[in-house]
Amino acid sequence: MSTLIDEIHRRRTFAIISHPDAGKTTLTEKFLLYGGAIAQAGQVKGKKAKAATSDWMEIEKQRGISVTSSVMQFQHSGFCINILDTPGHQDFSEDTYRTLMAADSAVMVIDGSKGVEAQTRKLFKVCALRGIPIFTFINKMDRDSRDPLELCEEVERELGIDTYAMNWPIGCGKEFQGVYARDKQRILFFGDNGRGKKADSIEVDLDDSAVGDIIGQKRWETLQEEVELLGAGREFDLEAVQNGMLSPVFFGSALTNFGIEPFLEGFLQMTSAPLPRVADCGEIDTFNPDFSAFVFKIQANMNKAHRDRIAFMRICSGKFERDTEVYHMQSGKKMRLSQPQQMMASEREIIDEAYAGDIIGVFDAGTFAIGDTITVPGKKFKFSGIPTFEPEHFMRVSPKDTMKRKQFIKGAEQIAQEGAIQIFKIPDTGMEEVIVGVVGTLQFDVFEYRMKGEYGVDLHMQRLPYEHLRVISKTPCEPKELTLCTGAQVLEDFRGRSLIAFGGIWSVGFLLKHNEGLELIESVTVQG
Ligand code: GDP
Repeated sequence: MSTLIDEIHRRRTFAIISHPDAGKTTLTEKFLLYGGAIAQAGQVKGKKAKAATSDWMEIEKQRGISVTSSVMQFQHSGFCINILDTPGHQDFSEDTYRTLMAADSAVMVIDGSKGVEAQTRKLFKVCALRGIPIFTFINKMDRDSRDPLELCEEVERELGIDTYAMNWPIGCGKEFQGVYARDKQRILFFGDNGRGKKADSIEVDLDDSAVGDIIGQKRWETLQEEVELLGAGREFDLEAVQNGMLSPVFFGSALTNFGIEPFLEGFLQMTSAPLPRVADCGEIDTFNPDFSAFVFKIQANMNKAHRDRIAFMRICSGKFERDTEVYHMQSGKKMRLSQPQQMMASEREIIDEAYAGDIIGVFDAGTFAIGDTITVPGKKFKFSGIPTFEPEHFMRVSPKDTMKRKQFIKGAEQIAQEGAIQIFKIPDTGMEEVIVGVVGTLQFDVFEYRMKGEYGVDLHMQRLPYEHLRVISKTPCEPKELTLCTGAQVLEDFRGRSLIAFGGIWSVGFLLKHNEGLELIESVTVQG
């Protein structure tokens, strides 16, 4: 039994988020390199000069799978670390949110020359919404960057959380000399020839003028001033970090492998073993030997050659063993999970066992939906589901070719099950059209593209003016008999629930005033 506890104890599971190009892929690759995962697989050998992204693309091409939207595992200092990748565009913030549900902490990568970028404010807010520890890695310090104090202030303002700089940069760009680790009072030197090598560091007393001789008088004075300013500010508070109220900030340069080790060390010190998840019967203890998991992501066609669909689940308790029987709560069926797999660096591996905190992917023939619970036979409980965001954009969609109605419905339902879109119908109408709701308009493009590519259906799409959606929780009459304001429409989801879509938020007041006894709820749906 002790191995189960030890194995779970050494797990750390985090999601990595960033604006495109901030350096998420590069940082992930360095983590894997650090854990020896890539070197073992022999992937980076002889590719030193090549950009990290192209390495990944190569891997994707070779393997025919999408490494960049996946889960990877690596080992470091006795820990087993799972990284969950997230899409970098704000239109996929819901996907990011779901991935964060499977993580126990988040790492946010920010480009030091850009700060919190306009497009990703939403993603960062979603990150703060979860209340999990958020670690900030300010990247590309080897390039000209913005004032570090200003960057920290921006994170605080944009995310609404406090920051605590764990280390402080000494210059930037061509002048970048390294970072000063506040707790250890050491300077970690950045060297051009330090690529991939362990950087030199020395212990320093910032009041000692000898520091000026090493890093230059002016730099020394600035560093003294800034560190003093930081010291006069906030105290480090581990509890606040663990509650997601305080984000530890690290400066570094992923490309040159600088600052990765202190980051990993700090991260491992400040995060805890996998956190328990709440189910309808209460909190499920992570260390309980009975296996349980929930589905947080479904991804179709990861391998174009095989047209497969993979359900990703986060193990919440106990140990998973291949070939043992599990129980799928939502369908009430016992089953064996098909080809359970994990990503090890660039390899997709069939696994025999996995522990709480780990993420596994299983082949799915359409059984699973986002939020589903998997337990061991005899244990019946449901994890609290995953909330769906309120769609903000709507389209009326139908197949151009009416003969393709079947594929149309199948495709729309499957893509909706993956959580990429939400689908509704207008009551008393046939299945020749659906109303598609999305959080970000890019999802429409993905939907259209996939319907054509995967289901062979060309679509007619027409924008609708709705901006909000409410579930009708109580109604004085048949929903279709309600008095509606202009631009409002009663919809039904595929579970048979009635909803109202409308334009301006003022419509809520109108609807409630003109339909006594009507009750509307905001949270659209909790899947699972
Ligand atoms: P992602 O879109 O967030 O995954 O970003 P990538 O990791 O693909 O990086 C985007 C670009 O920035 C690539 O050309 C990287 O080589 C480059 N890059 C990443 N980290 C650094 C860094 O620390 N310094 C510099 N100068 N460039 C970097």
